[in-house]
Amino acid sequence: MTRLLPATLENVAIAAQTIRSGGLVAFPTETVYGLGANALDTNAVARIFAAKGRPAEDPLIVHLDKAERVSLVACSISDVAHTLMHAFWPGPLTLILPKQPQIPDLVTSGLDTVAVRVPDHPLALALIQAAGLPIAAPSANRFGHTSPTTAQHVWHDLQSRIDIILDGGPTPIGVESTVLDVSTHPPRILRPGGVTREMLEAVIGPIKLLKQRGETVKGLPSPGLLEKHYAPRAELILFLGEGAGSALTKYFLTEKHARRVGVLAADEDAEALEKSGAIVYRLGAGLTSIARHIYAGMRWLDEQDVDLILCRDFGESGLGLAIRDRLKRAAARTIHT
Ligand code: AMP
Ligand code: MG
Repeated sequence: MTRLLPATLENVAIAAQTIRSGGLVAFPTETVYGLGANALDTNAVARIFAAKGRPAEDPLIVHLDKAERVSLVACSISDVAHTLMHAFWPGPLTLILPKQPQIPDLVTSGLDTVAVRVPDHPLALALIQAAGLPIAAPSANRFGHTSPTTAQHVWHDLQSRIDIILDGGPTPIGVESTVLDVSTHPPRILRPGGVTREMLEAVIGPIKLLKQRGETVKGLPSPGLLEKHYAPRAELILFLGEGAGSALTKYFLTEKHARRVGVLAADEDAEALEKSGAIVYRLGAGLTSIARHIYAGMRWLDEQDVDLILCRDFGESGLGLAIRDRLKRAAARTIHT
């Protein structure tokens, strides 16, 4: 039985005890909800993979309550890594570092590196601190589905598969952390996320963006960079390029008689689409709001039983890059205009 608990001090203590005894707790972070277990306990970590249906070759991020504890999970920490921790922790930046031997191989999918971060969310920090352990936590969704940004999303995906869901309301950022490999010069973004490329470059200078689809990390297929990931049930079509907005509208008008069509739209595009009869989920205005609502929008449109979801690209500056990355993975098809 999964217990859905409000975020009280008492419930944090109960959840921490559950983690300590090998159980699974979903909790909010500033990015999305995580599914946590004791990162030092192989059996507990194995339960994460089972609950999510996640393949063992997709490694987990280890969450700490303080940067000072990083040596519990990682070793040989470079100056660049220290600079980044200082600048962005707590926050949505995951660093790939050489792993400590005590971290089970299951956490890192057998890699000699470990992904680590300190989340910027009071409830996550309170839980990690009360458990007194590093917590391994991927996003709290069934594998391949969109990441959860509310406790209800977690309930929908994982009810009866995990012990506790701590409900701390909607998560503020809404897309996952930036994953940065600092073992190379220059460092490489493996997954764009909450800390933008511009923010990183302002601190450490030029960085590389891993080209997706097929590029490998240290000889292994880059984990978590599966082409289809973060996907809704309905077919999603992404419109890229200069004419994305008008191409989307045109596509909608030709498809609307044959299929039930939903649109993920920024406020500026929403009204015209609504007037022409589309089922519109409004993402709000600006990249911060779009990132915060993009996954909730995909889930909501699935609930409206649409056959098709249309969305346009929002550029590549700031959070736009992370939003584009998730939309590309969610999309069955990308139309370039
Ligand atoms: P999730 O926790 O579901 O947001 O996914 C975590 C992602 O972090 C994985 O899918 C990988 O892309 C990435 N990751 C975790 N550990 C490593 C590692 N040791 N090397 C490279 N990428 C990693
Ligand atoms: Mg995930």
